[in-house]
Amino acid sequence: HSSKLPFVGTTIFSVMSALAAKHNAINLSQGFPNFKSDQKLIDLVNKAMNSGYNQYAPMRGHLELRNAISKKYELVYGASYHPETEIIVTAGATQAIFTIISTFIKPNDEVIVFKPAYDSYEPNVELNGGIPIPVQLNASNGYKVDWKLVKAKVNSRTKMIIINTPHNPSGSILSKEDMLQLQEITKNTNIIVLSDEVYEHMIYDGEKHQSACLFPDLKARSFVVSSFCKTFHNTGWRVGYCCAPKSLMDEFLKVHQFAVFGIHHPTQKGIADYMQSPEHYLKLPGFYQKKRDLFLNLMKDSRFRFTPAKGSYFQVLDYSQITQENDVDFAKRLTVENGVASIPMSVFNIDNADHKVLRFCFAKTEDTLKQAAEILCGL
Ligand code: GLN
Repeated sequence: HSSKLPFVGTTIFSVMSALAAKHNAINLSQGFPNFKSDQKLIDLVNKAMNSGYNQYAPMRGHLELRNAISKKYELVYGASYHPETEIIVTAGATQAIFTIISTFIKPNDEVIVFKPAYDSYEPNVELNGGIPIPVQLNASNGYKVDWKLVKAKVNSRTKMIIINTPHNPSGSILSKEDMLQLQEITKNTNIIVLSDEVYEHMIYDGEKHQSACLFPDLKARSFVVSSFCKTFHNTGWRVGYCCAPKSLMDEFLKVHQFAVFGIHHPTQKGIADYMQSPEHYLKLPGFYQKKRDLFLNLMKDSRFRFTPAKGSYFQVLDYSQITQENDVDFAKRLTVENGVASIPMSVFNIDNADHKVLRFCFAKTEDTLKQAAEILCGL
């Protein structure tokens, strides 16, 4: 039989994690914490399971959790999403993204995607017969969006624009000015914006996260996607959500109900109880900035070059002073011979261009970061 995705292999995150495990390397490749989440949250999920939240949750998600999400948007962004009609809990942000794309993209619809891009966007578009229209971000100017390039690609077939801030894999962020440009470009069009904001609470140096929900005209055409896995350090729980105006959400629900129907109920109830206090996510920027700073401080005498990540838990390091190997070969050698796994950036780019840049995840304990930095400084 013929493949619907003939050019898609195994996601780089699984490839590098498997290589790290095989060679017993420190794994800074796939993005996940190697420390435990708050015991209080684990206890609340256990409590929910023990007190009987074990049958189907409502399709849109446990109502108390949707209320908690709605309150968070009010508190953090002053944005209003109705818990009954404008919020749906999903199996991680990945399923939200998949379902949004599957709900709206028809054959030959064009979807603008910024490269480097998280690796699920384009296969999701192609699976639905859509055409990804890549716009390359420029590593040499801090991965900033050139909105003139975007404007030149928008036409009557443009159905969706996917943005991601803070950005995986580069650690860059979109500014208020960027969001205003996007709002301007999409004005008087039917373009849907998919705003992947899973790293919204990991933003540094006093910067403010510019959520699509802060800009009224953007909010009206956007799905804002986020993730509890990232925020609460439990990437294996697979609980995320999306928010959008009712008319968009009504369509989303038609697909969601037959993709997963609902999400693990006790986890939703436990997270809802935990979110009664905003303390955890309000402290997250400081928590992760400390890790970024520790890692970069240790790296400052190395031969890697970098500008500090503005957001996310990823730091990109330029290794061009160390070797001229391409990044895929170097990332493999670094894992196998030196014992530190990372993600090569070229796999996310349009032309697999050789940028001599690797992505490292710093969501790790101090000890792990120190051990990794010691190895990297020896190169
Ligand atoms: N978001 C994670 C990363 O970028 C990976 C998620 C996954 O492996 N599906 O590393």
